[in-house]
Amino acid sequence: MPCMGPPFANPLANLRFDNRYVRELPADPVTENFRRQVAGACYSRVRPTPVPAPTLVGWTPEVAALLDLPTEPDDADALAEVFGGNRVLDGMDPIATCYGGHQFGNWAGQLGDGRAINLGETVNRNREHWTLQLKGAGPTPYSRGADGLAVLRSSLREFLCSEAMFHLGVPTTRALSLVVTGEQVVRDILYDGHPAAEPGAVVCRVAPSFTRFGHFEMLAARQEAELLRRFADFTIATNFPHLLVEEGKERYLAWFREVAERTAEMVAHWMRVGFVHGVMNTDNMSILGLTIDYGPYGWLEDYDPDWTPNTTDAATRRYRFGQQPAVAQWNMLQLARAIFPLVGEAEPLNEALKRFAEWYRDLSRTMMAAKLGLPDYLPAQDDQLWTQLYALLGAAETDMTLFFRDLARVDLQDIAIEPLLDAYYRPPEPSVRERLVAWLERYAARVRMVVEIGELTDDQRRRRMNAANPRFVPRNYLAQLAIDKAEEGDYSLLRELTEVLRHPYDEQPGKERFAAKRPEWARRRAGCSMLSCSS
Ligand code: AMP
Ligand code: MG
Repeated sequence: MPCMGPPFANPLANLRFDNRYVRELPADPVTENFRRQVAGACYSRVRPTPVPAPTLVGWTPEVAALLDLPTEPDDADALAEVFGGNRVLDGMDPIATCYGGHQFGNWAGQLGDGRAINLGETVNRNREHWTLQLKGAGPTPYSRGADGLAVLRSSLREFLCSEAMFHLGVPTTRALSLVVTGEQVVRDILYDGHPAAEPGAVVCRVAPSFTRFGHFEMLAARQEAELLRRFADFTIATNFPHLLVEEGKERYLAWFREVAERTAEMVAHWMRVGFVHGVMNTDNMSILGLTIDYGPYGWLEDYDPDWTPNTTDAATRRYRFGQQPAVAQWNMLQLARAIFPLVGEAEPLNEALKRFAEWYRDLSRTMMAAKLGLPDYLPAQDDQLWTQLYALLGAAETDMTLFFRDLARVDLQDIAIEPLLDAYYRPPEPSVRERLVAWLERYAARVRMVVEIGELTDDQRRRRMNAANPRFVPRNYLAQLAIDKAEEGDYSLLRELTEVLRHPYDEQPGKERFAAKRPEWARRRAGCSMLSCSS
């Protein structure tokens, strides 16, 4: 008799749910799914909209393991049914949450999960809670004028980049799966009157919580003071339980300070790796200091602090690379305003806001020291060294990622600029070469200071640099190439890129093409250097 083998065990059998957000916070009493303002509640119950042909095209083993799910998606159809939104499991209680936000500096009123649906909070074998959230699973009461859907292009970008960020050591929400829905979704990519159909997709995002600054702002704007307190208490009890030792307003202040520290740390990492979020509205700021809502984000190619990938922000470039720390602080100010009723005193909140700048400065100095392989940052020496370095990077188109990575390869006993030439988009002019040599000499002298007191060897310097300066980042054009193939039904490049980005700090022989600087064709192509919010 032929051996039939056992049928697949139910791959989802291990999921356990404990939906604290639903249990402990007030629900919108209306359960029909139509667009509306939702006052006096933190969420609305809503079902994902079924899709015709869900197909699993991306699965992240590390995230699956976090959730006690199989790391190999053997029963892909069963997974696609659930993570494409066609099947709600026992124990799930799907909701869309209510939040507001400041968009591009202006209060925008109620926004909410317009196309995100929290399926539930799983509890893994280590008793950690993880919220599962589908993005693009259909309209909710918060969809306003839009369709609640997402296209493959933007979903692939989120799936790829959130995991790349995790492996780069940047705090982020995670991505479990990428499902194409079998449905076409119409988008006008550059908002220029050229709508076209694109494949639809759903990403399952995973985080300890998806709460945003905007959740608190919404309750404050509606003057729902009791609910604001209840929501803050819930957030602290579930996500900041170590702060429960504090009492009264001290607890809220300790919480605010921790949010500030985490936010500063997140942005310092963005600046270290060259990430531009693109839409740092307060509704896109996680209360846990996680990078959230991957939209028209981009990666710096040539070092340009004024660069933003977001064409929707082209006029003022509010969210440009170099402005991210200042915008984060402005966003913290909006959070301070929102939670003011819980504290009742402006002074300590102002104090924490001032400290934000110091935390950011200290964290970024630590990272700057690591980028140069130094054990610490000495302002008397290093302020000038960095000012000169920034000027040098701005003097000719220089790939940020390649420059820092290859800097570790320069022999500081016998300076030659050859290891750095690949970082230049065009062969550098003689004046730039001279400045580069002069800077390398200053840098070598700075390194010698530490070597001479026995606190650094060359090997240590290189190892420190290679742990702070990635070889591989999800370059804008690489993501676009993976999208081009995926739209033809070929996911091999997505898989290969995902695999390479699991080890961004390792040299990976044979994978050099994924570390190559932007080719000329990608300079002006939409999706590579220009992105809109269309997703
Ligand atoms: P974003 O700037 O992408 O973070 O989105 C801002 C707001 O618009 C959020 O409330 C989103 O839920 C909502 N939104 C964005 N795209 C859609 C869509 N296609 N359908 C419904 N809501 C959307
Ligand atoms: Mg958003």
